Amino acid sequence: MNLLLLHPAEVLPDGTARLTGRRLLHVKSVLHARAGDTVRVGLFRGRQGLAQVLSESATELVLRPEWTEAPPPRAGIDVLLALPRPKALKKVLPALAALGVDRVVLLNAARVEKSYFDSKVMDGAFIDELLQLGLEQARDTVPPEVLVRERFKPFVEDELEAFCRPGSLRLLPHPPATAPLPVRPTGQRAVLAIGPEGGWVPFEVELLAARGFQPVSLGPRVLRVEVAVPSLIGALR
Ligand code: SAM
Repeated sequence: MNLLLLHPAEVLPDGTARLTGRRLLHVKSVLHARAGDTVRVGLFRGRQGLAQVLSESATELVLRPEWTEAPPPRAGIDVLLALPRPKALKKVLPALAALGVDRVVLLNAARVEKSYFDSKVMDGAFIDELLQLGLEQARDTVPPEVLVRERFKPFVEDELEAFCRPGSLRLLPHPPATAPLPVRPTGQRAVLAIGPEGGWVPFEVELLAARGFQPVSLGPRVLRVEVAVPSLIGALR
């Protein structure tokens, strides 16, 4: 945890904040911060800076934050992610938040197991927690917006066009493709459509290609989704 994320409601009218639970434990047992020390803090969806530890006890930490810095720049990337198995999703969601992705659609596909949509990881509160872990890691305060779409074709036909911001590079990472990942011109947004563990089926490739998604490959190594996601976003950055 490289930043303690505070929610606006936790900041009292006098400008101080009181932390308990996981963040208190982290400050005491990992940062070993004591009264008078400073720790890095961020306001959820807002600014960040340093906070002086005013007091600490077994049950509570009192901080006085100064909100001096803007959050880091965004990646300019949105992701359509065929829903991976819950264990992989638990790794991918924090990574997407840490990498500064703006929007994520957790999408059904032919090779997605339907039961994945009923997993406890898909609970809104669980998703928020996973995103928060990524923000704390990367010193960011702005999480991606996460949408869940259980029907592939209606999403692609009815919503995808509006989802893609104008001028976005539309890429379909697909190991069998022959084209390499293009160089993204500075400032251009990108939308990545990352397939399920079994890959996109031909019908899905055709439908996405008809919406302007260009099949691209990172090379002959077929990567697990949790490795492909940061590799692709890293390559585009
Ligand atoms: N056997 C599947 C296939 O050939 O498509 C493998 C799917 S891979 C585990 C899951 C997703 O990660 C793929 O659908 C793709 O979006 C992305 N991916 C993994 N390795 C890739 C590579 N070398 N190039 C492009 N995309 C890749």
